[in-house]
Amino acid sequence: MSQSGKPVSAPSHIQVKPTSSCNLRCRTCSLWEKDIESGPGSDPTARRLSDRELELLVKDFAVWGVKRLEIADGEPFLRRGTPQLIEQSVNLGMDVMAISNGTLIDQALAARLVRSGLNTLIISLDGPEALHDEIRGVDGTFDKLSRAVGMINEEKERAGSPSPTLIFHTVVCRLNFRLLGQVLESAASLGAAVAAFRYLSQVPPEAVTLTNELLQGEHASPAHHYTVEEDLGIPAGELADLEGILDRLVLAGNRLPVNLALDPLLFDLAREKKHVPRRFEGPGCPLVGDFLQISPRGVVHPCPMLTGCGLGSVRDRSVREIFEAPESQELLRRIQELFPLPICPHCCYREK
Ligand code: SF4
Ligand code: SF4
Repeated sequence: MSQSGKPVSAPSHIQVKPTSSCNLRCRTCSLWEKDIESGPGSDPTARRLSDRELELLVKDFAVWGVKRLEIADGEPFLRRGTPQLIEQSVNLGMDVMAISNGTLIDQALAARLVRSGLNTLIISLDGPEALHDEIRGVDGTFDKLSRAVGMINEEKERAGSPSPTLIFHTVVCRLNFRLLGQVLESAASLGAAVAAFRYLSQVPPEAVTLTNELLQGEHASPAHHYTVEEDLGIPAGELADLEGILDRLVLAGNRLPVNLALDPLLFDLAREKKHVPRRFEGPGCPLVGDFLQISPRGVVHPCPMLTGCGLGSVRDRSVREIFEAPESQELLRRIQELFPLPICPHCCYREK
């Protein structure tokens, strides 16, 4: 029950970020540069949630009725407590998914993740070896992720376990779009269940400014802070080649033992059609009100892109109290009323 007396159901899906630190330096992401804990200009007073605070938080989620937990960026396995957080959440009955760059998974961690009951592991793959390392900004990254995936598959076989389901995720940009066939081959040969290709999400600065103007007041703050300045979009003059690349990818997907998940935006780009994200098909954004994001310091955000919009801190109140507070419900209502916000067409969750 909300403080206004109106019943409010729990969001079905919560994303927790155990850390904003990352050991890679990807060209498609600027999170590592803006890392509040150890990036340039980091805030020495920033204190992330402790393992105990995270444990209590996921207990709160389970009691509240949250069904899905996503463990996301920076690199979650930089934090020693992340495997324990996964175990605790699975034991509480939640469906848990982790997103990783795959470079820190050794045999012991692979065995632990398989035993933990983690449902889904998403690993980023940007290209064949040399290109993957170039985009990730650190040599040896492809080799590490390949070995990690091999270890996970070995441990799954040893344990006779189908989980975690391995999904390879590729952010398509001008640097790799001609090599997507090779990426798919690598995903299949490494034993991924799914190879997902999503077009780069680049938020123009003016979309951020306009969104912040719309959400004025105490919530006016950067809408999304991971965008990079370098234009990595596929140049208009090269889009003519994209349709053939996608057609060949679909044919290869039919032949290879991996499920192919292609961002519909790629097809619309290739056909020079205006793209309408699936999320825009109904009234309002289906994620808003059904999702929350918890920052490493315990700040609750209403959607994955509105990272400057804090509803409150789980250090001061329970996540349920924060979500049900009239001012939070009013902000969620306003976001729905204003939907689509200027940043929405560029949202990394636009098709989910
Ligand atoms: S995309 Fe992921 S792996 Fe790459 S720098 Fe950002 S958080 Fe790290
Ligand atoms: S589509 Fe818009 S409101 Fe929905 S999650 Fe994305 S940025 Fe947020």
